[in-house]
Amino acid sequence: MSTKLTFKSDRFKKNRGGYSRWLSLSCEKCKNQLMIYQKDGPGILKRLYFDRIVSPDDLKDKEKLECKECKTVLGIRTIYKKESRPAYRLFAGAIEKKIVKGNKIVLWAQK
Ligand SMILES: [Zn+2]
Repeated sequence: MSTKLTFKSDRFKKNRGGYSRWLSLSCEKCKNQLMIYQKDGPGILKRLYFDRIVSPDDLKDKEKLECKECKTVLGIRTIYKKESRPAYRLFAGAIEKKIVKGNKIVLWAQK
């Protein structure tokens, strides 16, 4: 079973041009799938905003982002000051990303 996801639409999205994509993010080292993420606008992925982590919930709002499989630390908590918005600042090359279609996403809870 899969769920049709809808993008969050708010001023953050507007600030980035008003369009979004779903990304499937994996650990570069062990290829473990980490999360589904809503990426707003163009440009490279430098930060992961907590409010854009679709699933799983237990990766949000921690001091650091760690791969559950190989325990590599992939990023650390930061606040994006311009928007007062908590996020993980990613380490360069720590994460692999793949664009996925919303209707192809199967959330962990439903596997
Ligand atoms: Zn890993």
